[in-house]
Amino acid sequence: MKLLILKPGREKSLLRRHPWIFSGAVARVQGDPGPGDTVAVRAGGGEFLAWAAYSPASQIRARVWSWDEGTPVDGDLLRARMRLAIAARERLLLPEESDALRLVHGESDALPGVVVDRYGEVAVLQVLNAGAERWRGELADAVRELTGCACVYERSDADVRGLEGLAVRSGLLHGTLPAAGAQMREHGIVYGVDVAAGHKTGFYLDQRDNRKRVGALARGRDVLNCFCYTGGFTLNALAGGANSVLSVDSSAEALALARDNLQRNDLEAARAEWQDADVFKQLRVLRDQGRSFDLIVLDPPKFAPTAAFVEKAARGYKDINLLALKLLRPDGLLASFSCSGGVSPDLFQKIVAGAALDAGVDASIVGRFEGAADHPVLLSFPEGEYLKGLLLRRA
Ligand code: SAH
Repeated sequence: MKLLILKPGREKSLLRRHPWIFSGAVARVQGDPGPGDTVAVRAGGGEFLAWAAYSPASQIRARVWSWDEGTPVDGDLLRARMRLAIAARERLLLPEESDALRLVHGESDALPGVVVDRYGEVAVLQVLNAGAERWRGELADAVRELTGCACVYERSDADVRGLEGLAVRSGLLHGTLPAAGAQMREHGIVYGVDVAAGHKTGFYLDQRDNRKRVGALARGRDVLNCFCYTGGFTLNALAGGANSVLSVDSSAEALALARDNLQRNDLEAARAEWQDADVFKQLRVLRDQGRSFDLIVLDPPKFAPTAAFVEKAARGYKDINLLALKLLRPDGLLASFSCSGGVSPDLFQKIVAGAALDAGVDASIVGRFEGAADHPVLLSFPEGEYLKGLLLRRA
């Protein structure tokens, strides 16, 4: 029997159903568990708490698979979890206008370290920790069977694998990628998705509803879309009747795909301008050129993956928000996002308020953004709430 025994009193977070066990809470392990092995977690007094995946290289020493002593952890359990996660999406999301969604969202679907995204007929599996890696073969089979997708691709190449002592891995698991690349539809807009080399699993699905909402605000406006990636907010703004959209990103590959995506949708290319540039610098260039906009989107990459990076992240957010607020015309809108897990919604609002103050701009919050319904946040796992945004109106 492989056992992980906690220090006295350290069972509190588990009793609140938080699924992580940090190394500092562990008194001792017995039975010599290897990476990804299932251990029985017991309180100092011997009481059973959970079955968890052991991860000797990580500060997060174990992650809970199951709270029920009578439920064995095996491929069948994980497959049942995946089936539930997929069924929940079917009841939550109206598929008519979208065929791309996150089917499995890690801890929030009781599958720590497992992500499955679907882009049309292509499913992408991400295996992020030692526990998930232990069951990788079973997970891959389950994705193939439960999604029925013609192609299953693996993108287990996120940085966090390094913290688990795992090497990166990506490639085909089943079938072949469509010759013209993966293609998806979201709110009626068509995108090509680079599942082999794009960011994350290829697309930022968490912003689905926010893209639509911003698009609906774009009519007649001159729009600036910063960190545009493959054009999500840009295309929604154009479809929503924007007067013009200037899109900025520092990735040439992303911009090339964004331009392709514009063509895929038969949207008027004349209203779109693209700039391959660093947003931090380009906002200053635009300021010096005297340009201004009615609607600005700031959707930067994760500046603070964990709390340790918060100060640096705060400076970054403040800088771009300050500059964007200055580029905004009176009555203009700023949709400003943060996907940093280490920056809480509260802190983000404080940073943006500081930016407005320093910019000498009066602005109010007229809306808030969060992740889409296929990115649920388990109540006992607030870390899952990483995406937040503010919709501001400049007076
Ligand atoms: N809004 C996008 C997702 C943005 S992801 C969507 O809806 O799909 C963040 C993007 O920021 C990536 O495309 C990345 O290439 C880009 N990026 C990162 N750092 C940057 C920088 N300093 N300047 C410009 N773009 C940057």
